[in-house]
Amino acid sequence: MDLSARVCQLSPSPTLAITAKAASMRAKGLDVISFGAGEPDFDTPGHIKKAAIQAIDNGFTKYTPVGGIEELKDAIIEKFKRDNGLHYERQQILVSCGGKHALYNLAQALFDTADEVIIPAPYWVSYPPIAELAGATPVIVKTSEEEGFKISPDQLREVITARTKALILNSPCNPTGAAYEREELEALAEIILEKQIYVISDEIYEKIVFDDFRFTSIASLDKAIAERTIIVHGVSKTYAMTGWRIGYTAGPAELIKAMTSLQSQSTSNPTSIAQKAAVEALSGPQQPVREMVQVFHERRDLIVNRLNAVEGISCFNPQGAFYVFPNLSTWLGRTHEGRNLSNSLDLADYLLTKANVALVPGASFGAEGYERLSFATSTENIEKGLSRIEEALSHLGQHQ
Ligand SMILES: *Cc1c(COP(=O)(O)O)cnc(C)c1O
Repeated sequence: MDLSARVCQLSPSPTLAITAKAASMRAKGLDVISFGAGEPDFDTPGHIKKAAIQAIDNGFTKYTPVGGIEELKDAIIEKFKRDNGLHYERQQILVSCGGKHALYNLAQALFDTADEVIIPAPYWVSYPPIAELAGATPVIVKTSEEEGFKISPDQLREVITARTKALILNSPCNPTGAAYEREELEALAEIILEKQIYVISDEIYEKIVFDDFRFTSIASLDKAIAERTIIVHGVSKTYAMTGWRIGYTAGPAELIKAMTSLQSQSTSNPTSIAQKAAVEALSGPQQPVREMVQVFHERRDLIVNRLNAVEGISCFNPQGAFYVFPNLSTWLGRTHEGRNLSNSLDLADYLLTKANVALVPGASFGAEGYERLSFATSTENIEKGLSRIEEALSHLGQHQ
């Protein structure tokens, strides 16, 4: 078929692809342990589900305003005030069908063909295609494990050109779990203001942080940077609500208005029922979140320790989110049954077929030599999966 050039350059999300392959192996009766999940393995808290059921019973099942109901916008405004000391008006908030949809609308409303968008790597898989679909050019900046997988002010300054429109910042980060300290954000903000670019701050993992890490939104540093920041957020990760599809954007009213127009000509409002549930998630009891984070914390400690105990693996200790991003580069270039495992995809494929363990190749995130493992799975699976990985690696031949 003669498909559009736009979709021809598009490939499906690789994280979803590996989950699908693991699922099909499982359907054949194989005992596959998946570290591929990009979502919490907990159920949505009961009080949130109840709010949705009540919305249905009350007949709250029709179109709502395109950009979300006022009650939800107010709950979002209250969240920013309470958690980040940020002050927004209703016309600065847009509710969309997930954080991903928020980013898509944002890219379509903000980027033009000649624009460059700075994306630090390792990055979330969807950033480059979302920017490209809007005609913009992703400018990938590699960050190193030694520097905590964070873009430095010097690196940022170096890549900014007259065509730079925005920097995409994701803290805590998927896939590395790296999170920016206040001082680091201040140094980046200085350059963003000097060069008059925008910063798109993806704060979806704000609440999933460990040890004594204190989350700072770059928008909260001062008024000037707040005006240059567009926050993308959502309820998916914090409240185990990935299927409900509620995300939101906070930013300049003019941009929000344009994004709302776009949404009015595409999806219209996010699901009415899910919006009511999101009100409850943001305004109701937050204890379930603390309990989930506590469990993630324990699993993080377990998986990081187990990985670092494996010969030839070094694993960065994530400050947030629910992924680890170990370096397995010493295992590349080995052979198995005459086949050279030359990159992270080969290695992931080897581990899936040989050990029945699914993980996501680092190349998908712009970081060859790494693999992403989600710890949104039980400690039992973590223990069992790590033993299998260790065993499978021990069977690999020497470097060629
Ligand atoms: C999961 C995720 C999102 C958005 O998820 P939605 O389910 O669409 O709300 C956005 N950014 C990152 C980095 C994510 O991991």
